[in-house]
Amino acid sequence: MKRVGLVLLLGLVLGGVYLLANTGKLALVSGSVLKQKSFTLEYTAFYTGCQHEERKEECHSPRTRNELLEKLTNEGWVITSFTSERVGLEKEETKLCPGCQEQEFIGIYGNEIGVYAGSPEKPGPLKQVIPVNISRLPKAEIEDLRAGIVCRGAQEKWRILEGYQN
Ligand SMILES: [Zn+2]
Repeated sequence: MKRVGLVLLLGLVLGGVYLLANTGKLALVSGSVLKQKSFTLEYTAFYTGCQHEERKEECHSPRTRNELLEKLTNEGWVITSFTSERVGLEKEETKLCPGCQEQEFIGIYGNEIGVYAGSPEKPGPLKQVIPVNISRLPKAEIEDLRAGIVCRGAQEKWRILEGYQN
């Protein structure tokens, strides 16, 4: 009984190896056919300043591939997956993501008003605390703050904040 089990196991392993070898061959064949087509670069950047991840994809001609990968590696990108059609790249940045660098919104910090980087949908770190006790504000205004008020530029931000002054 034990021997039958062993033979079966061996058969399974061999079968698996055969399958793997075959699919590997298939991938090679389709790879050479696709050589004329473009390949995709898949970037994933992780920004430690706000813990946000940004992804983007680019299509390139295969002729520029090696040069591009060399350049990107020198820029600190790490290759995480590698096929003839798709190359995955990852990089960690110690700054804020582009969204958090460009945008800010007004919200609640504890019982006071806080200015945060980013947007209410994708909030970043706290940037400023405005010492205004929000419990004395009308309910509708507290609701607005809870939802987050997006400001377009510093001027607008300070104009909105002035409205909350004690
Ligand atoms: Zn961010």
